[in-house]
Amino acid sequence: MMIYLDHSATTPVSAHALAAMLPYFSEIYGNASGIYSQGRRAKEALETARGQVAAVLHCRPAEVFFTACGSESDNLILRGLAWAATKAGRGAHLITSAIEHKAVLDTVQQLVDLFDCTATILPVDGQGRVDPQDLRQAIRADTVLISIMTANNEVGTLQPLAALAAIAREHGIPFHTDAVQAPGHLPLDVDALGVDALALSAHKFYGPKGVGVAYLRSGHSLIPALTGGGHEGKRRPGTENVAGIVGLAAALHEAEALRPTETPRLLALRNRLLDAIPAAIPGARISGHPHERLPHHASFLFPGLEIQGVLMGLDMAGIAASSGSACTSAAQTPSSVLTAMGVSRADAAGHLRLTLGRSTTAADIDRVLEVLPPLAARIWKLVGW
Ligand code: PLP
Repeated sequence: MMIYLDHSATTPVSAHALAAMLPYFSEIYGNASGIYSQGRRAKEALETARGQVAAVLHCRPAEVFFTACGSESDNLILRGLAWAATKAGRGAHLITSAIEHKAVLDTVQQLVDLFDCTATILPVDGQGRVDPQDLRQAIRADTVLISIMTANNEVGTLQPLAALAAIAREHGIPFHTDAVQAPGHLPLDVDALGVDALALSAHKFYGPKGVGVAYLRSGHSLIPALTGGGHEGKRRPGTENVAGIVGLAAALHEAEALRPTETPRLLALRNRLLDAIPAAIPGARISGHPHERLPHHASFLFPGLEIQGVLMGLDMAGIAASSGSACTSAAQTPSSVLTAMGVSRADAAGHLRLTLGRSTTAADIDRVLEVLPPLAARIWKLVGW
């Protein structure tokens, strides 16, 4: 049996989400725009799903629209809000942070390169946190959008989101958060968080791949970055992926229901890794914040070691893990997240991420602690450390 420890990359579809979706592939296949009963049933399912998502976000159903993934949600929100602001002559200055997912950073960069926007990229400290004072100082009269992620995918660090969003609100600037890593682990009440826009992706919380959520507080105008139809309140055109959306809503509802029991369970298992790995492997250290981090997320730096060897060794022992970023080799570009945290290029090549999930047991953690220390020691010896 494989021990799967890459839940921040993706999760299996839960039995509950799968069962909810299945009828919408075959029995209830109508186009949700159709006026016949098949279409009306699809439309009803779509609106029920929207209501379920809104209940978890504590927002109005009309403030939720469905997309094809988390990246698309980030793209549509950022581009749509920035375009609307520039068109209205409100300004064109954007603020984000250096540790965002590329779906945010590359979109901001494109807005700068092609659409006459300017951007301030806020730095982070050695544990990956944005300082609210830095945000306050970066705000200008022409700032029209702030985007800071809820929790980082590579190092698990949580941002002081409520403090950051409160500063945005003081200045009347829309605040977006990429919350793709949050469902099932953190509360998602948009009013408590104080956010105006938020992105989610179903495959990160035991829903299907290819479907995402964008939340946009009413009162904010958005120019649709995709055009072609009046679907989703004219915010995202295209025939709705009803089965996927039904699966997303069922999965989100389930993740929220399981959160009170799963969080302490995962936290206890994860803390064993955070305590035991640096103790058992001389030179290894935790990356990201020691406790202000996602409860299922453990990540480490193994200085002087290229992580691929470790990942392959773990795979041979039946353990699926990752580096947390698409690139691990020192010969390639190092992770921009680790670089922003001040990690050297050489050290960044030795980054390991272990993200736990519903299938993870205490025996899985025992097995990792049995396999990983001698494996790292062997590879270090090979590279002459
Ligand atoms: N944002 C964060 C923080 C992520 O971790 C990911 C996926 O890894 C994404 C956005 C993109 O989500 P999707 O794969 O649904 O496009």
